[in-house]
Amino acid sequence: MQDIIYDVIVIGAGVSGCATARELARHEGRFLVLEAADDVCCGTSKANSAIVHAGFDARPGTLMARLNVEGNALFDDLERDLEFAFMRIGSLVVCTSDDARPGLETLLERGRQNGVEGLRIVEREELLRMEPNISDEAVAALWAPTAGICDPFGLTIALFENARANGVEFAFNAPVTALSRDGDTWTVTTDRGTFRARCVVNAAGVDADTIHNMASAETLTIQPRRGEYELLDTTAGTHVAHTVFMLPGPMGKGVLVTPTVHGNLLVGPTADDVDGKRATQTTAAGLATVRERAALTVRDIPFRETITSFSGLRAHRAEHDFFIGEAADAPGFVDCAAIESPGLTASPAIGRMVASICGDVLTRNDPAAFAERADFDPHRKGYVNLHIVSEDEWSALIQADPAYGTLVCRCCVVSEGQIREACRRGARSVDAIKRRLGVTMGRCQGGFCTPRVLQILCEEHPDLDLLSVTKSGPGSEYCVAPVKAPRGGGLDA
Ligand SMILES: Cc1cc2nc3c(=O)[nH]c(=O)nc-3n(C[C@H](O)[C@H](O)[C@H](O)COP(=O)(O)OP(=O)(O)OC[C@H]3O[C@@H](n4cnc5c(N)ncnc54)[C@H](O)[C@@H]3O)c2cc1C
Repeated sequence: MQDIIYDVIVIGAGVSGCATARELARHEGRFLVLEAADDVCCGTSKANSAIVHAGFDARPGTLMARLNVEGNALFDDLERDLEFAFMRIGSLVVCTSDDARPGLETLLERGRQNGVEGLRIVEREELLRMEPNISDEAVAALWAPTAGICDPFGLTIALFENARANGVEFAFNAPVTALSRDGDTWTVTTDRGTFRARCVVNAAGVDADTIHNMASAETLTIQPRRGEYELLDTTAGTHVAHTVFMLPGPMGKGVLVTPTVHGNLLVGPTADDVDGKRATQTTAAGLATVRERAALTVRDIPFRETITSFSGLRAHRAEHDFFIGEAADAPGFVDCAAIESPGLTASPAIGRMVASICGDVLTRNDPAAFAERADFDPHRKGYVNLHIVSEDEWSALIQADPAYGTLVCRCCVVSEGQIREACRRGARSVDAIKRRLGVTMGRCQGGFCTPRVLQILCEEHPDLDLLSVTKSGPGSEYCVAPVKAPRGGGLDA
């Protein structure tokens, strides 16, 4: 066990844990994030619709409704400070029969109660001008101009990098296996050793019930609810210009059709309760449902352009609200649990709220603790994006480092220089590079570029070789053995 007593240990480095870490970093103290996976953004934060919701869906008066609207409003400043992709493109909830109109009116009223600005109902003629591919059955829609789309990996990585630059420590491959309390100090046991803290934050996503139940006798149950998607190539990316929802039902917001910030078209998700917390497979039945339901709101979706399918797990709680606060029977243990949709949107506000609760815990025993830091730097430099740099800027990059002139991922236009930079900023697996730069996310899904990415990872990280480098952490190695010895012996990277 280390001698250090951290002020706060955060369990989980998804968007909730990373947003909390960045807010903690604004204050004096020593903070640690423990993550089971080999990188940030490996849970639900990497597999969702990436919508920055306007906030008309959640029940008024809930934490979900408040933090959705607050979080949405923080995105413009966050994008400026942290340089990740975000576009306020607006959303439409489409009504396909006059009988269903009261559903639109209910959403409009709920949105107004939640404080969402700019909401209005558009009739078919205007809707058709906004979305020429809208279904022939569409009669009207709720227009929400404050909705947007973002890069969920980019946001989470930006929060992580900024928190780390401001002194927050991160430990990966460190699953928490036990929690115990002795007086005012919590002991957190992981596969990588034991750590102590005055305050523990539970931001473990679908596993937040397991962590909560280690600390508190008041049982929490999280039901994983799977959402499956089809992702279409960039050739289909302009099929719609806004996020197009159907009217929501009891299992959630229904199937949407949306452009992504990477220029693709995303269609999904389903909503099915599943038994396993790792049940992220896609199914033929799920994907058939996605296609069938999407066609109710948008016509002629070119599904032949599908390049991959994936799914994510919502951390659903029966009460259907975020579960944030200090456990009554476990002083210093703070839940940030049941963060289902709109958790990505709400994350900047969730981070503020959770950090503030940690501040209350820390100042209870020491009023001078958790003082605001004058030297907190809110800015973080984003990764180079060759889709948006000018030719002059690209030339300057190549002048400084010729590796920026060698394309590795042709589908997503990513150069060797960018991949080397991502490695130097901490990426150690192919998926870590993918989340930072989009490499392997295009039409070939890594068929052409993966071998070169593996080589670069090995060149940049001397402790990695072709047998140990992974797709996404231990157990996902690409190479099992050399098929023939290279000249000179040894296994060359
Ligand atoms: C299908 C679907 C669609 C969605 N669409 C949207 C949307 O469009 N807009 C929106 O705002 N929200 C959306 N959401 C919700 C959003 O994705 C989540 O609210 C958000 O990503 C939750 O983040 P998190 O950090 O709480 O959880 P996660 O991202 O799951 O992070 C939890 C982390 O904890 C780690 N962990 C777990 N157990 C342990 C342990 N024992 N020790 C250490 N670490 C541990 C995990 O490895 C993981 O990295 C959607 C969700 C789903 C599933």
